[in-house]
Amino acid sequence: MATKTASKKTDLSHTRGNGYEGLKPSDARKLDELCRAYIAFLSVSKTEREAHDEAVRLLQARGFKDLEALIAAGTRLAAGDKVYRSCAGKTLAAAVIGRKPLERGLQVIGGHIDSPRIDVKQNPLYESGEMALLDTHYYGGIKHYQWVALPLALHGVFIKPDGRKIPIRVGEDPGDPVFCITDLLPHLAQDQMKKTMSDGIPGEGLDVVAGSVPCADKKRKERIKYRVLELLKEKYGLSESDFLSAELEFVPAGPAREAGFDRSMILAYGQDDKACAFPAIQALLDLPGTPEYTAAVLLCDKEEIGSLGATGMQSNFFENTVGEMVNLSGGTYSELTLKRALGASWMISADVNVLHDPLYPGVSELKNAALLNGGAVVTKFTGARGKSGANDANAEFVAEIRRIFDAAGVVYQSAELGKVDQGGGGTIAGYMARYGMNVIDCGVGVLSMHAPWELSGKLDVYMTYKGYLAFLKDARGGKK
Ligand code: MN
Ligand code: MN
Repeated sequence: MATKTASKKTDLSHTRGNGYEGLKPSDARKLDELCRAYIAFLSVSKTEREAHDEAVRLLQARGFKDLEALIAAGTRLAAGDKVYRSCAGKTLAAAVIGRKPLERGLQVIGGHIDSPRIDVKQNPLYESGEMALLDTHYYGGIKHYQWVALPLALHGVFIKPDGRKIPIRVGEDPGDPVFCITDLLPHLAQDQMKKTMSDGIPGEGLDVVAGSVPCADKKRKERIKYRVLELLKEKYGLSESDFLSAELEFVPAGPAREAGFDRSMILAYGQDDKACAFPAIQALLDLPGTPEYTAAVLLCDKEEIGSLGATGMQSNFFENTVGEMVNLSGGTYSELTLKRALGASWMISADVNVLHDPLYPGVSELKNAALLNGGAVVTKFTGARGKSGANDANAEFVAEIRRIFDAAGVVYQSAELGKVDQGGGGTIAGYMARYGMNVIDCGVGVLSMHAPWELSGKLDVYMTYKGYLAFLKDARGGKK
């Protein structure tokens, strides 16, 4: 619903429009600027570790201080202070301390920075058919067939038993080699083509070709595999056992790109959920002055595999971080103060939604489907088949979001994820709502979600940013 641009006041109907209609020149300029920064972010932030590090770099450049150092020194926090805290280099919380005490609640935007991909196993390297291959175990909900026969880059880290971290990033620079998973030629694929799309390429079959030249020592067994080990030794000082303590991710190779004759879209890997994570962090960076309520952004890991683990949203990291901020914010820390701070918080669960796809019209119910250029997607409930598993935002809170977005001139639309019986999905919303805080899902609609290359609209990314900024600034009806 393009609420500000739609119909006259006398028209009772609720109409939706293309956000480019009536877009102000000032918004058009900011849209270009934001999307240039977003494209740059996507290209250097393909993994959760990289997105975390890039976000920290951006935060530090704007004067955000590491909360760990403030905790260690017992430095008091005051209104206007800017802090961030990392969890294992994969999850990140950042905040600008507001004028009101923390127990009055925070304005939180939480997204995730992990994306579906192909992870390398701990015992991966083998030789077969005059090739060295790496065995993999995919991460997140992928359609296997989409990940074959395209250039892949290897991103990740090896950690040595003495603690040394050896980063690896191969396949992104123009001079780098790339990797790939092979597919069967159509000529010999009669049996494969009769299988269902989920069975045609098994998960265990997603192995990556890594080399084909034998080592010089003719007495060795598996000389091609050994040559790869020699190269890993020469370049990185590694041996085969170092794969045991490595986190290596194959992701589509190459940078994010503008898409379409009019350059109105972005084609890139990992837009679920950097299409929301980037606008969230940018909104926090752009927050003018000191907000009434403490403004916080949370970028999580492990969302695509259930939000478990110390770096997932189901851990106590965010709660503990708010606890530390309460402790440093004057007064005495108590569990009750922390519970009040969390319970009184408002949160946007910042995750992507699905756009109506004209090639697959059967899965969406058009009145309640997100449309490209329809702006930020507000999703009252997620879940599947009877709203099962949904965090269903209270109508009262949806009304607050309308108030905030309308006042800021944000183009937004209300949408569900697909037809009622078609399936569904979940986000981190429910894990935060259990503190008793108001939580609603709001983010960017994408096409080809979870595919190697996902498509988004620039206007939707911009309007999501604009909505997030207005939300972080909001004084909840009080005077600013
Ligand atoms: Mn997501
Ligand atoms: Mn996802």
